[in-house]
Amino acid sequence: MKLHLLRLGVMAKLGAPVPAYLIETDSGENILVDTGFPAGVEGPIHVGPEHSLLDQLSRIGVSDVRYVVCSHLDPDHSGNHALFPYAEFVVQRSHYELAVSGEVPRLEQGRSRWDLPHLKYTLVDGDVELVPGVSLIESSGHVLGHQSVLVRLPETGPVLLAIDAIPMSVALDPENRPIFPFDLDGDAVRSSTRKLVDLAARKKALIIHGHDAAQWESLPLSYS
Ligand SMILES: [Zn+2]
Repeated sequence: MKLHLLRLGVMAKLGAPVPAYLIETDSGENILVDTGFPAGVEGPIHVGPEHSLLDQLSRIGVSDVRYVVCSHLDPDHSGNHALFPYAEFVVQRSHYELAVSGEVPRLEQGRSRWDLPHLKYTLVDGDVELVPGVSLIESSGHVLGHQSVLVRLPETGPVLLAIDAIPMSVALDPENRPIFPFDLDGDAVRSSTRKLVDLAARKKALIIHGHDAAQWESLPLSYS
């Protein structure tokens, strides 16, 4: 099992990365987590030629993606779903139902990129093991049905991709963490932070944050 961090853009104000993650399993099934922000769209996120998702995958030697895990469907996490017409998209049922309801304006913004008739969504409920060594951890709050990913690597050990449930290291303290403007439910944010921090402590997992400029500068891009 290997894990690769992919840089799919930069948040102009914070200098923070817009990431995705590629997990190569021992059985040869590639799992992509999130698809980033689309290129060529005006907004607070810069996507340059160096951020091409397909180029980064081919550099790793990946041509076929079996699963795309959707942490959630915000525009900076679901902008390139169309590149993977043959993949199975795995999302929490509560999040998918909220997204299709049209109730959350920012999910509507990117709807033309995730609500495509040929994309195959598989809906899951709560914490589930996707394949041996890769678990999806429900972590609502930023938005209902956000999910994080726990990967068990042979050398590095467990790695918890917290994504937007704990986007920066300043948000590691459940009681005193900041609630960010895009967090829809502050109480749920705190209880998901508690859940993830406890899980990471129990498993002795490295927590990788979703949008932490300083942490990303310090991280290797590949783990085995
Ligand atoms: Zn995000």
